[in-house]
Amino acid sequence: MVGTKDRSSILDHHGDAWNFEPSNIEDQIMDVANKHIVVIGAARSGIAAAILLKKKGADVFVSDYGIIKDDWKQNLVDAQIDFEENGHSDKAKQADFVVLSPGVPTESPIIQFYLNTGKKVYSEIEAASWFTDQRIIATTGSNGKTTVTNWLDHVWKTAKRDHSVSGNIGVAFSDVVDGSGGDFILEISSFQLDHIDTFKPTISLLLNITPDHLNRYGDSFEAYAASKFRITENQTEEDWFIFNYDDPIIKSHVESLQKKEDAPKLWAFSYNNEVPEGAFVRDEHIIFKFNNKEETLMPVYEVGLSGNHNLNNGLATALAARAAEIKNEAIRESLQSFMGVEHRLEKVRDVDGVKYINDSKATNVNAVWFALDSFQVPMTLILGGRDKGNDYSEIVDQIKEKVHTIIAIGESKDRVEDQLGEVVPNFVKAESMMKAVRAAQKVAKRGEVVLLSPACASFDMFDDYEHRGKVFKEEVYKL
Ligand code: ADP
Repeated sequence: MVGTKDRSSILDHHGDAWNFEPSNIEDQIMDVANKHIVVIGAARSGIAAAILLKKKGADVFVSDYGIIKDDWKQNLVDAQIDFEENGHSDKAKQADFVVLSPGVPTESPIIQFYLNTGKKVYSEIEAASWFTDQRIIATTGSNGKTTVTNWLDHVWKTAKRDHSVSGNIGVAFSDVVDGSGGDFILEISSFQLDHIDTFKPTISLLLNITPDHLNRYGDSFEAYAASKFRITENQTEEDWFIFNYDDPIIKSHVESLQKKEDAPKLWAFSYNNEVPEGAFVRDEHIIFKFNNKEETLMPVYEVGLSGNHNLNNGLATALAARAAEIKNEAIRESLQSFMGVEHRLEKVRDVDGVKYINDSKATNVNAVWFALDSFQVPMTLILGGRDKGNDYSEIVDQIKEKVHTIIAIGESKDRVEDQLGEVVPNFVKAESMMKAVRAAQKVAKRGEVVLLSPACASFDMFDDYEHRGKVFKEEVYKL
């Protein structure tokens, strides 16, 4: 039955987990075919789930509280799926169970209606996962998900392993699950994990947990952390849970997992502590340790991306590759050759001996901490934007040590000035990205770094963080 914890009757992940078992998939298709499913939220993944479920023979209805984009409406029309927009009518309340888009909060009245009537609510990745028993490699965490997901893609390409990349990354899992061969590499947000039931990655990675999106969890850090741990809740002894050994919250969760009889293999990564099982750094070399045997993988300086956080991302990636039995040689090569992802500590260019770095994706203070930690030279820091109530005290020490000039942009200029104006010798406010970049050029000296790492959302001045990074790069190229 859909939604039962005992998934082995549907998709057999046990024993030889890599074998495709078509008869089990058939059972699942039959199951969905008898169901009336309402998909709540018609954004990318909701639409993809609706089309997938319809294809599998379900009777699907899509309902959105707001307006549905024309292109997406057309997709629904083409797939002959009924839908409504601008509110949920009684028709939205007739489902056997609901699949929701990650953008729809659990608190919304329609979801509460279903939960109160005891009907199941599933996230889109949960629904998509019913239709495969291929290997899933799923990454979650507060920061680094996209970097690691792309890094995994790079390793799998280097090792010539058949795979696809989807999830919280522009292509929905539901878009690719039907018909893609090989492994599914997924980037997973905590919202996607909120409504899983049987979702069971073969390899799951939890990178870190820091406060972000607390508004979706009743401001409860515990609730937010708990949703991240769900990535491993259905894993059993034939699976792997790869986790950050230096994150105290994750570590204490692992201690409780260790007591479980059929716990997954627990592989830790850390750049500054030796781990019992997993990957760590000793004498500037990456070491793998499994069953008490150590293997030296490579020198740290050969890793393509700089910064300790990227070293952690690389260690996590390497462990997932190793769990998938990719050879050390291919892992080494792909740790060396990965170029990183646009807008994440991306090197733009050198101008007069000054390095300009675009870290526009740094939308929280923690990401800025790691950005500052990545450089050991004097810096000019451009930050600000739409502030979610940031507490900048976390980065004060690093700023005192390395940053001589802060250039504040966007709505939060004054707030940044209140908190950081006195911390640096030189504080400047700029009205536009052009003015910020020009101001940075005036103060930065040869050998130094100019870093855009805003700690804030971008919507006050830009369409999104990508637009902000693009404008920054354009201005740097004009220098
Ligand atoms: P996500 O997909 O989780 O938002 P990204 O890979 O897009 O993460 O990176 C977001 C921001 O966090 C970037 O500024 C990046 O430099 C920074 N970052 C990347 N990896 C880590 C990490 N392991 N710990 C902390 N910050 C990180």
